[in-house]
Amino acid sequence: MGDIIQLLPDHVANQIAAGEVVQRPASVVKELLENAIDAGATQISLVLKDAGKTLIQVSDNGKGMSATDARLSFERHATSKIKRAEDLFQLTTKGFRGEALASIAAIAQVELKSKQEQDELGTCIKIKGSEVESQEPCVTQKGTIIGVKNLFFNIPARRNFLKSNQVETRHVIDEFQRVAIAHAQIGFSLHHNGNELFNLPATNARQRIVHIFGSKTNEKLVPVSEETELINIEGFVGKPAYAKRTRSEQFFFVNNRFIKSPYLHHAVNAAFEGLLPDKAQPSYFLFLSIDPKRIDINIHPTKTEIKFDDEHALYAILRSAIKHSLGQFNVAPILDFER
Ligand code: ADP
Ligand code: MG
Repeated sequence: MGDIIQLLPDHVANQIAAGEVVQRPASVVKELLENAIDAGATQISLVLKDAGKTLIQVSDNGKGMSATDARLSFERHATSKIKRAEDLFQLTTKGFRGEALASIAAIAQVELKSKQEQDELGTCIKIKGSEVESQEPCVTQKGTIIGVKNLFFNIPARRNFLKSNQVETRHVIDEFQRVAIAHAQIGFSLHHNGNELFNLPATNARQRIVHIFGSKTNEKLVPVSEETELINIEGFVGKPAYAKRTRSEQFFFVNNRFIKSPYLHHAVNAAFEGLLPDKAQPSYFLFLSIDPKRIDINIHPTKTEIKFDDEHALYAILRSAIKHSLGQFNVAPILDFER
């Protein structure tokens, strides 16, 4: 036998990468919303059909792309956000892998319209399964509109694996809310099958949370604020009397990125110790700011898990900050659920 190793063609490599980045419509939504934020948008709208299975469209008023960049944005490892390996240790953008659009275009039909402020005409591109079908100058607004149709059209097994529209919509809403809470200063809207589900004006974090979770939320939020050399913590915890049975109001953001951290979750629970009945779930919306050098975001393609330099110190600071807030606001323990 002679040599048998070959480099995979791009469209195959893209499809493989897509398997990691895109699990469901909600994964596409996350990537597109993050791109809009990285583009400096102040208003972002999300439109879905059939839970995103038929259409996911994100429009932003961000900086848009040149014709060349619009085409390049669909190449794998093509990014405007980092240039050198060192940049990985000082990330200020949501994206940096340059994989999302290439992955999405490998497994869907994508239509992109983008225009930069100074240009008269924008660029319209259609791509289907990594193949560019057309690219031409076109009339469009400043910013970017990207429509993703028929997700997994060329991977029937993946498409069949998707859950009911109700379940997939829930996943999209979760993703939408995470991004919207992390970026209260940006206006967001969400329409599904022609119905408006959310219309969130630009505001502050507290009002954004109240808009999403209802006006009753306002009275239950206790502010948390702590600044140390290692970390800056801002945000809110819910008064124990408002504890829930589900974990639907538990949010950690690190440098404005939603993350999951069982370890930090434990720290919050420890701060609530003795204040909550068994199995009650505290609400929390906590915004942690850390020097990007002290965290590693690049441990998973979806970036919802990150590594901290000094986890133990962080745990202690978080726990004590929350304890302090609960004490300061005279929060009494409750023995059972009131609602
Ligand atoms: P990443 O976000 O990791 O750089 P993506 O595949 O998501 O990779 O996007 C590739 C590039 O396309 C981005 O680096 C950016 O330059 C450009 N881009 C994508 N979406 C937008 C957008 N909504 N507005 C402006 N530029 C965009
Ligand atoms: Mg991106």
